[in-house]
Amino acid sequence: MTAGPRPANIAELLTHALALEIEASERYADLAEQMKSHNNLRIAKLFGKMADIEKLHVDHIRKMIERHGVKLSEPANYYWTSPEGPETTDPLDLHYLMTPRQALELARHNEARARDYYAHLATDAQDGETRRMAQELAAEEEEHVALIDAWLAKVPETDADWDEDDDPPFLQD
Ligand code: ZN
Repeated sequence: MTAGPRPANIAELLTHALALEIEASERYADLAEQMKSHNNLRIAKLFGKMADIEKLHVDHIRKMIERHGVKLSEPANYYWTSPEGPETTDPLDLHYLMTPRQALELARHNEARARDYYAHLATDAQDGETRRMAQELAAEEEEHVALIDAWLAKVPETDADWDEDDDPPFLQD
């Protein structure tokens, strides 16, 4: 028995791809806001760019859904996870003092996860077109991983005391 949905056809692939890309775009917008509120404007800009990239993906997939006349019958859920693994209950526990490096590592984890997910779908694909499409999506996510790796190379290592705050902010509602 395998866990998770099997990509019987293009409809299933596109249904899951749509959920995955919408989620990614929203998470990047969240990360951008978070970095902005902590004056990490450079990293905020990077995440803003990623949000735009994933938004283009969403548009692209919507067009494919239209072109293939796919009916989105069952909603597919795809949630970002934190690199600690599935034991983490909160799907995306954003620490308010998250450093740029940690934010990028979180992003990298999820890009790699998306890539592996599409690669897995390609393996299970039941027809050539579905396989080709899944491979294409996996390749695009691999590009995103590479992009984030390039940014990570320029970001300093996380300080051991990253979560210490001399002047904690008031909780916001
Ligand atoms: Zn991506």
